[in-house]
Amino acid sequence: MAEDANPFESLQSQIDEAAAYLDIGDDVIERLKYPERVLETNLTIELDDGSLERFKAFRSQFNGDRGPYKGGIRYHPQVSQDEVMALSGWMAYKTAIVDIPLGGGKGGIIVDPADYSESELERLTRAFAVELTPLIGEDKDIPAPDVNTGQREMNWIKDTYETLEGTTEPGVITGKNLASGGSEGRVEATGRSTVLAAREAFEYLDMDLEGATVAVQGYGNAGWIAARLIDEMGATVVAVSDSSGGIYNADGLDPVAAKDHKNETGSVVGYPEADDEVTNEELLTLDVDLLIPAALENAIDGELAEDVQADVISEAANGPLTPEADAVLEDKDVFVIPDILANAGGVTVSYFEWVQNSQRFSWTEEKVNAELEAVIVEAFDGLVETIEEFDLDNPRTAAYVVAVQRVADAFEEAGSFP
Ligand code: GLU
Repeated sequence: MAEDANPFESLQSQIDEAAAYLDIGDDVIERLKYPERVLETNLTIELDDGSLERFKAFRSQFNGDRGPYKGGIRYHPQVSQDEVMALSGWMAYKTAIVDIPLGGGKGGIIVDPADYSESELERLTRAFAVELTPLIGEDKDIPAPDVNTGQREMNWIKDTYETLEGTTEPGVITGKNLASGGSEGRVEATGRSTVLAAREAFEYLDMDLEGATVAVQGYGNAGWIAARLIDEMGATVVAVSDSSGGIYNADGLDPVAAKDHKNETGSVVGYPEADDEVTNEELLTLDVDLLIPAALENAIDGELAEDVQADVISEAANGPLTPEADAVLEDKDVFVIPDILANAGGVTVSYFEWVQNSQRFSWTEEKVNAELEAVIVEAFDGLVETIEEFDLDNPRTAAYVVAVQRVADAFEEAGSFP
């Protein structure tokens, strides 16, 4: 796997690709390629044995022209400032393509949470929340879960913020559990939009989802839900993987049973109903109708892309293709549903959570899912219109044409200050 592509450079080249089709001045495009500000902080916490450890953390506020900064917080050893800046930019264009009134932000701590106890992670999360408190707020910047964070961490951040501020403000963070003001459907939302977008793409391409073969790379919250939902739609999930490796069965795997196996043993590998084990690279190059990369950035580089055999890719992960891979797949006529649309379900239901919080009212799961479906279908239809209007071969370029224009419009309406 390519470790060397810098995700921030990838983001900037994606914006440049789209800018070529837009009547927006270079000076405005320049603004849209950089975060407005980035917090870098060192968090020193006490470990369970009484010693101290320092962790580096970041929060990038990329663009607030369309609304409060919005985006998750990631816990991973490979977190870096460039990665967080890229992820924050992808959030700004993600909220724009699904047209919800939010900007883009992202945070991360350089940590492997598997190495720490729950109480150590709570101290680390609360230490980060203390640093974030002056920067966040329901109308300023609204964090959410990302890789290796979930409801537990969101509840800690909310509690720390509300305690320090002496207020009740559930909308300061999304992805909370229901008891803390979370929304129905939020946990499933990223996987759900990934498969809804795939369903729309299959229809557009006149392909049948019923019986289509699917491979899913990554079996975290996004990947495993996508596998379960696409199976429920009648597709056949032939391969899934996690960081320990993958499993394959030409007749189809049971996504729920594979998840149970992972919960029990720590990995999908060893799941008894699998015929074969595959590496992550083998999984990504399987001859399937649909490939869902649902792990980290740069899963597919230019070289690996040459061997990709899928017809459609729906990006559950952020930034799973390097720009070189994107170019190779465009030449091979693979229809890539870009991350900023495919995985936008997470932030869309975060938006619904924020709306419910501000109204002190809760929606049913049916309502959340119906509203989410409407947003994704409309965004996909807009993507197709743009592909056709500009005669574009790469759906990602079309997505950025729509999204960059929306952010630029908001900026130009507001004007520059000072
Ligand atoms: N971390 C998710 C993403 O990358 C969700 C962000 C959010 O809900 O604000 O889209």
